[in-house]
Amino acid sequence: MQDYSAPADLLKNRIILVTGAGDGIGRCAAKTYAAHGATVILLGRTISKLEAIYDEIEAAGYPQPAIVPLNLDGAVAKDYEDVAMTIEESFGRLDGILHNAALLGQRTPVEMYDPATWDQIMRVNVTAPFLLTRALIPALRQSSDASIVFTSSSVGRKAKAYWGAYSVSKFALEGLSQLLADELDDERHNVRVNSLNPGATRTNMRAHAYPAENPASNPTPEDIMPAYLYLMGPDSAGVTGQQLDAR
Ligand code: NAP
Repeated sequence: MQDYSAPADLLKNRIILVTGAGDGIGRCAAKTYAAHGATVILLGRTISKLEAIYDEIEAAGYPQPAIVPLNLDGAVAKDYEDVAMTIEESFGRLDGILHNAALLGQRTPVEMYDPATWDQIMRVNVTAPFLLTRALIPALRQSSDASIVFTSSSVGRKAKAYWGAYSVSKFALEGLSQLLADELDDERHNVRVNSLNPGATRTNMRAHAYPAENPASNPTPEDIMPAYLYLMGPDSAGVTGQQLDAR
């Protein structure tokens, strides 16, 4: 996937929702999807960041995006149903979701792990993608070629000491991804579901997790976009239930 070369109009006429679109990998993915023709729905909790990427997309002349302000920590099922209703009313369907937003939480032994932080990480990293997907399945069903991508991590496939709720939340996402891939793999085959591990990437989250590391030693979000494009576009049709790596 790293060598995938996307045509400029890969995502023309597609409606794609990106969570955590205001920063890091999500911000880059939102802009990259828009640059390839998609109408991007920018979901996140910090409105100023969403407005900044909105303005960049508009100034570049890409399809006009939409902003959905939502704090995934504290949102309840009704909030997600409202998001789905707005999308159905505005666009009539959805062609892709990039579940990207996540919190890192503490890097500490389980014995010391703060229970309230554990709950928060599970809410933002697992319950939110569950509720959002649940609410949006009818809109995805309206697409002729839809893709759901769950953002995983290496510690969501092999646990590592001190990664706490973050690691467990990514294992849970892998489970949700497989579950949905199996459920949606019916005679219509119009919704594929995969998990994607970006690998070490130069963002704020990485800098918090590895404060002593030189950020320049890691690839940028731009460097990993081929995989993000491949999974959102028609060239990945038929690929479902997979655990993939961006590099
Ligand atoms: P990041 O720079 O910290 O960005 C995370 C994004 O998620 C931000 O836009 C943030 O919003 C949003 N977010 C966090 N909590 C939220 C909430 N409660 N409600 C709504 N939005 C929320 O992280 P990143 O490195 O780009 O990570 C993106 C994804 O890749 C994550 O799923 C992460 O686990 C995964 N990943 C990253 C790496 C890496 O090396 N960077 C490696 C493996 C996996 P604000 O900007 O408003 O805070």
